[in-house]
Amino acid sequence: MATGKIGVTTENIFPVIKKFLYSDHEIFLRELVANAVDATQKLKTLYSFGDYKGELGEMNVKVSIDKKAGTLTVSDHGIGMDAEDIDKYINQIAFSGAEEFLAKYKDTANSIIGHFGLGFYSAFMVSKKVEIRSLSYKEGAKAVKWTCDGSPEYTMEETDKKDRGTDVILYIDDEDKEFLDQARIDTLLKKYCRFLPVPVISGKEQEWKDGKYVDTDKDKVVNATEPLWTKKPADLTDADYLTFYHELMPGSEDPMFWIHLNVDYPFTLTGILYFPKIKTNFDIQKNRIQLYCNQVFVTDQVEGVVPEFMTLMQGVIDSPDIPLNVSRSYLQADSQVKKISSYITKKLSERLEKMFKDDRKSFEEKWDDIKVFIEYGMLTDEKFYDQAKKFFLLKDVEGKYYTLEEYKTLVEASQTDKDNTIIYLYTTDPTAQFTYVKAAEEKGYNVLVMDGQLDTHIVGLLEQKLEKIRFVRVDSDIPERLIVKNDSKDAGLSPVQTDIMSTLFKSQIPAIEKTNFIVTFAALGENDAPATVTQNEFMRRMKEMAAMQPGGGFYGELPDSYEIIVNTNQPSVKQIVDASTKALEGEVNPIRTEIDTLNNEMTEARKAATDKKEEAPDLSEKEKKVSELRDKESSLISDYAKTQPVVRQIIDLALLQSHLLSGEYLNEFIKRSVDLLK
Ligand code: ADP
Repeated sequence: MATGKIGVTTENIFPVIKKFLYSDHEIFLRELVANAVDATQKLKTLYSFGDYKGELGEMNVKVSIDKKAGTLTVSDHGIGMDAEDIDKYINQIAFSGAEEFLAKYKDTANSIIGHFGLGFYSAFMVSKKVEIRSLSYKEGAKAVKWTCDGSPEYTMEETDKKDRGTDVILYIDDEDKEFLDQARIDTLLKKYCRFLPVPVISGKEQEWKDGKYVDTDKDKVVNATEPLWTKKPADLTDADYLTFYHELMPGSEDPMFWIHLNVDYPFTLTGILYFPKIKTNFDIQKNRIQLYCNQVFVTDQVEGVVPEFMTLMQGVIDSPDIPLNVSRSYLQADSQVKKISSYITKKLSERLEKMFKDDRKSFEEKWDDIKVFIEYGMLTDEKFYDQAKKFFLLKDVEGKYYTLEEYKTLVEASQTDKDNTIIYLYTTDPTAQFTYVKAAEEKGYNVLVMDGQLDTHIVGLLEQKLEKIRFVRVDSDIPERLIVKNDSKDAGLSPVQTDIMSTLFKSQIPAIEKTNFIVTFAALGENDAPATVTQNEFMRRMKEMAAMQPGGGFYGELPDSYEIIVNTNQPSVKQIVDASTKALEGEVNPIRTEIDTLNNEMTEARKAATDKKEEAPDLSEKEKKVSELRDKESSLISDYAKTQPVVRQIIDLALLQSHLLSGEYLNEFIKRSVDLLK
């Protein structure tokens, strides 16, 4: 029997492993099973090249528990190791500079493993003793048994193992007894090993017998050795992809579609990315992509590892170029991983572009569902934006799709305003904003539908990226003013009429909570609506953005403000102008004259005082008088307004059209309408 010291420079490396790796200790199983699978694959390779001429026999990996002995064993029928191999691969771990490294990386214990190929030694995280029994595939090899109790001392001796391959036997620590529980092991194998390329057996298949589940004689294979992503897309059906999806994401609805990646240059990378259906913001669940390295599970915490927008997708990515055994922070910082990440972005956009070019019709059919992913990509990834602008689609209310380029050509002639800006009109809800959409269409404009979760942001992004275009929601102004082609006509009211009409309409606007209105006048077409409610584009967007943020922020607190634009050319409004002028002018004019006189006097007095460098005169009497006169004027007009139900009716019609009339006010409107019919 040989004894010796493991080639570790740090005497106490094992306590260090135990301590630092404590939180991740379950990964020992992945390490050992992955080694066993490697050894199996290696033998298969040797066999296929004729370098191994013996029988392969059953090539599986077995994980078995012996509760009585307190052991967990990982066995394979792979290449095995002879004494020389064990010495080389197990005893001489490259530990130069280990102390320095540990000091630096003590928070990211996982990276220690990856960095130093500590895979096998992770067994000591859960074991008080580890035994290797191995018989090499080499002709005439002698079986060896290696034992180590966690100190750097080991023993190695010949043993009588008959079958080729390796058993790694862990004598589980008292505090890690959970790893002697079949259910716990099953869970871990399912997490890390479910797609390994060699059958992994653990425990027995069960059957229902006499009212309970009992073990059968049949070994239970825990993995699918040829997961879908390793197969050729041409050999797969939609049903295959859907079945695989449901295996990965149990309980999810069918995805909308998927992309099968299969790249071998400049990285080897395979994978399937599914686009789930996203109906609301609540459906957005990140971290549903799993990373594999040669079918060994690495992580599903992919933020910072795959491109940000891909975290909305689901599926698997497998690349031998993704370092196994490292922590997420290590992965995020790895330059190779960064390259892979930007390469995935490129591949994905190339694939989307190809889909668009090859079959535009079916791309358009999918557009509404995949748009959110593409928009998210455009918003978060500059490079993706540059690719995506070629296949990003705008949809109009007729359901037609245009690329950015096509759309510009379509509307350039008819929708350029006096400042040479092309106005893209859009609706966020074609049904609710129906009247505005119709009105814009009647003017010969095209209207886009921007009703997606991220459209508010996309509107902002496109305005930034595309030159001289601006998005304007159809209800943000009256049709005449949506696209201002020349300076507008004035409303045709005299100053006193403007005063009367303003107060008249203002006094009749219902008090709606957290909502402000201003009244303006415009001389529009005779057949246009008597009044229209519009909402300022800028304010509305700010509020929409605020609504998406927790707390709402500054803009979220502000009331909604609307403009009621009264059409002074509309016959009913004209009548009101005439009638109110006639009824009120006589009384309002002298008040206005008096106010003007007082105002003039005050201005004069202030000026005189300034000229003489005197203190400001006391004008409070006069100011009081002016405000009394204004109140008088205002109550005169409001009293009159009460006798003019048509004013309120016109306002309510406009509010109704904008979905602002409800509850008590809607009820009043209906009653008044009936009265007016009498
Ligand atoms: P890594 O797997 O990263 O090389 P490990 O410490 O896990 O590091 O293993 C070191 C080496 O020991 C492996 O490269 C392999 O040559 C050998 N080895 C480990 N487990 C087995 C096994 N089950 N069968 C054959 N060789 C093995």
